[in-house]
Amino acid sequence: MNPTYAKMGTTIFEKMSALARETGAINLGQGFPEHAGPPDMLQAAASALVERSSQYPPMAGLPELRRAVADHYARHQSIDLSPEEVIVTSGATEAIAAALLALVSPGDEVVLIQPLYDAYLPMVERAGGVARLVTLEPPHWRITAEALEAAITPRTRLLVLNSPLNPTGTMASEAELRIVANACVAHDLVALCDEVWEHVTFDGNRHVPLISLPGMRERTVKIGSAGKIFSVTGWKVGWMCAAPPLATALARAHQFLTFTTPPNLQWAVAEGLGRDREWFDAMRADYQRSRDRLSAGLSAAGYAMLPSAATWFISADLAASGIALDDVTFCERIVPEAGVVAIPVSSFYAERPVTHVVRFCFCKSDATLDAGIERLARFR
Ligand code: GLN
Repeated sequence: MNPTYAKMGTTIFEKMSALARETGAINLGQGFPEHAGPPDMLQAAASALVERSSQYPPMAGLPELRRAVADHYARHQSIDLSPEEVIVTSGATEAIAAALLALVSPGDEVVLIQPLYDAYLPMVERAGGVARLVTLEPPHWRITAEALEAAITPRTRLLVLNSPLNPTGTMASEAELRIVANACVAHDLVALCDEVWEHVTFDGNRHVPLISLPGMRERTVKIGSAGKIFSVTGWKVGWMCAAPPLATALARAHQFLTFTTPPNLQWAVAEGLGRDREWFDAMRADYQRSRDRLSAGLSAAGYAMLPSAATWFISADLAASGIALDDVTFCERIVPEAGVVAIPVSSFYAERPVTHVVRFCFCKSDATLDAGIERLARFR
């Protein structure tokens, strides 16, 4: 077996969801909504399945979806992309894999900011890269110029930025984005921006893409996900956007990973991206209400909740809650003892410098959230 995989377990999300399925526990672990998806999106995918072709679409994606992505970003984030700069992928995870395979050569160093999504590190290693970690700490999870500079060497080629950040639900501030952009320009790095949570933002916060900062247009790969925007995680439709020299490299890697993505889903997503602003506002308002419900309920039960400005996640600080368990032990115990599944935030770190924060997923029905709150209140 390849050494990267030999030392690896199963991803924490699958592990915890399997546990929830086996035990019947309430799953506040892996991030996925409980409902099937927006009915009109499902209908659009079903109609396209019956009425349109099920044969290979073009390798870089249906022209209609590539244009819809470019138009969408022009409308919502004032960025000017051409459809040729958009490559459709089978989910953001494929986009991340393709980008790392395309842009990292053996021995290249890659700056990863932890907490990090658990796919990044093994993929960097599989591409032959060497990870240089920048560690963020609660409660602010702030990126500093000093920490970033300390991780960069003459061998650094790439930096991965996930904002809004899973698992913390924090968003890089404009000052932090400037720090990252300045470092990329000064050291001639490519930024790989995992922006799958760009639309799931709360309290009037709006996502600012790194690609829009001075000097970043030619050196950024911007990754998005229909699964998160439209609450259809199983569709695995994503995309990566970059200027032509980068896009050419990305397309070469993509062609031998998945080659194409189911065309009916691409049609439905193209249609979805054209929806009016109100649709996106309503989606955000809906998840914000769920965030507030879980946050208020767990706070009332004595859990010290950390703020969440975006994503489907909110975290509790166990130490500040007076719970003398580390995050892994807490998550192991609440399955049999409370009937709830959550995710230990230390699994988003390469080592475990932070072991007192637990992530809960709130994109669930009120009934599920209330039952979860009640069970977690009893556990205390
Ligand atoms: N993004 C999801 C989460 O953070 C997990 C996706 C997956 O399991 N591949 O929960």
